[in-house]
Amino acid sequence: MRIGLGYDIHRLAQNRKLILGGVEIPYELGLLGHSDADVLIHSIIDAILGSVALRDIGYHFPDNDEKYKNIDSLELLKETNKLLLNEGYRIINIDSNIICQKPKLSPYIDNMRENIARVLNLELNQVSIKAKTNEKMDSMGEGLSISTNAVVLVERV
Ligand code: ZN
Repeated sequence: MRIGLGYDIHRLAQNRKLILGGVEIPYELGLLGHSDADVLIHSIIDAILGSVALRDIGYHFPDNDEKYKNIDSLELLKETNKLLLNEGYRIINIDSNIICQKPKLSPYIDNMRENIARVLNLELNQVSIKAKTNEKMDSMGEGLSISTNAVVLVERV
């Protein structure tokens, strides 16, 4: 078995959709980025890549490539899973945190888990997502950004 760790942070901005775990969440601000800026999926991608020492998301899906402009990050997650399988590994489980002061995410967590499980061919109980506020501190707590952490355990097929 091997383990991978991922982290990401994006700014919240006007005139952007808020997409987390492939779920569009109604809110006055959205995450800024070249892709759909799905900060949760990005940290899971980095955790998967990290588990088999395959560099990082920017190496495989560069943010100056027009191909990835506004792309659905679930597509990138699917590609990342292929890279993992090519290395001879599969996912045992994923755990993750979303650090977000606003909006309240609990109504959307199960939909996010379903999206991720579907794309990675996992059972729902292999995908965990926890939402936290940042107690109104720092950029996340002030509602200026959303950050995420993820860990992924993999085993040789
Ligand atoms: Zn990102």
